[in-house]
Amino acid sequence: MQQELAKIVGAENLRPGDDPVYTADETLFAADGLAELVVLPGNADEVAEVVGWCCANGVAITPRGGGSGWAGGAVPQGSGIVLCLERLTAVRSFDPLRWRIEVEAGVTTATVHRLALENGLYFPPDPGAPEQSLIGGNVATNAGGPHCFKYGVTGSWVTGVEAVIAPGELIRVGGAARKDVAGYDLAGLLTGSEGTLGVITSVSLRLIPFPGPSLPIAAFYADAARGCEAIERVMAAGPVAAAIEYLDAATLAIAGGGFPGGIPAGSGFLLIVDCDSGEADRDALREAMAQEALDEPLAFDDPGVLWRWREGLGTLVSSHLGSKISDDIAVPIDRLAEAIEGTIEIGDRHGIAACSFGHAGDGNLHSTFMLDPNDELAIRRAKAAGDELLAMAIELGGTISGEHGVGVAKNGWLHRQWREPAVRAHEAIKQALDPKNLMNPGKKLP
Ligand SMILES: Cc1cc2nc3c(=O)[nH]c(=O)nc-3n(C[C@H](O)[C@H](O)[C@H](O)COP(=O)(O)OP(=O)(O)OC[C@H]3O[C@@H](n4cnc5c(N)ncnc54)[C@H](O)[C@@H]3O)c2cc1C
Repeated sequence: MQQELAKIVGAENLRPGDDPVYTADETLFAADGLAELVVLPGNADEVAEVVGWCCANGVAITPRGGGSGWAGGAVPQGSGIVLCLERLTAVRSFDPLRWRIEVEAGVTTATVHRLALENGLYFPPDPGAPEQSLIGGNVATNAGGPHCFKYGVTGSWVTGVEAVIAPGELIRVGGAARKDVAGYDLAGLLTGSEGTLGVITSVSLRLIPFPGPSLPIAAFYADAARGCEAIERVMAAGPVAAAIEYLDAATLAIAGGGFPGGIPAGSGFLLIVDCDSGEADRDALREAMAQEALDEPLAFDDPGVLWRWREGLGTLVSSHLGSKISDDIAVPIDRLAEAIEGTIEIGDRHGIAACSFGHAGDGNLHSTFMLDPNDELAIRRAKAAGDELLAMAIELGGTISGEHGVGVAKNGWLHRQWREPAVRAHEAIKQALDPKNLMNPGKKLP
């Protein structure tokens, strides 16, 4: 294998199959990674040749972007190759006046944001590890983030995908045209497929003119029920908020010390609403937040201070007891308060500290069970609590994953969320595109 693949990508672009840099992602306690070889092709043709060789020789392929995933999707399961896209870094075309860009899969999310901003444009999807995650990984997970509330998740911004599918063929679906309904939505199918249908080599994205600076507002409420009522008032206020984020009482207790403002006594819920459509809209949203708030909602002159604190939440929560198991369930907005309270109740039942925060406007919770990573019993309890959490999301009419995907972490759970005929249709698509089950086996589908 090594000799054959070295002929395609060069020996200098191979790594051992146990290289820790390429065999783990950010998921804890879900997946131990091991492959036979790590392969780093330099362009789409090399990707096609590598996939072709693997398909001809029955070798499994684990596609990998920046390894920032939280579902173990990029973690190889003991055999085959890791196919890492990080060397595909070309900006194939950029046409700012026509609001479009085509970038290869290995371009970081932060680079796409920066190129857009430098040209007065905006690429809204903002998953929280932009310097690490690659655009191919964002598309493969259909990643979200705070500002996807107003603007939609990554897939809403993809107009075309170039990918290598089995048995090693380079396809292009969509492109620079903003509309294309000619065929089945294969670009949409590859988006969010977590590497199980093909390897994405390049994506065409649409951009929009930069809407306006972030004008965030924060307000505290006594509890999740009152906070969630405020969310519905914000949504009914008229102006569309750019982001609606929340922290529950337990997260506030851990991370509130660094909040860039005062926290009123008795606070059990923090709501952060972002506005990018001017001060008049900001004031209307602020007014909607004021009812039942414990104090006058706080408008921030320096949004960066608030967003930096928000971005650090995951790390703060993680360091509370040393580690965490965090999920990304999503529920209909009218069930959000139940899901927030349910997270704490599940933690209590399993004797494990719990909290949640997340993208409230999308009903998307980062429900988290905190633990000492050396405590085996706590890890088992947190995993059991995690299972109960997924069951609760389904029960509330939601989903086991609003952002991170299924990967290995939640594999098998789609069968609980969907009825059998829908699962069969899902499996038939996999069978049609990857009949030998070599594309990221063991992920998304059991
Ligand atoms: C601090 C932090 C904050 C985060 N916040 C968010 C958030 O707000 N919203 C959110 O959605 N996610 C979030 N994430 C999760 C993660 O950043 C996203 O899932 C991201 O899109 C993964 O991109 P990646 O390049 O790192 O992919 P990887 O982790 O390398 O891979 C993820 C999956 O995509 C597949 N894949 C990767 N590249 C390709 C490709 N080119 N072709 C085919 N398949 C491929 C892999 O096989 C795997 O199944 C966060 C992660 C961290 C560490």
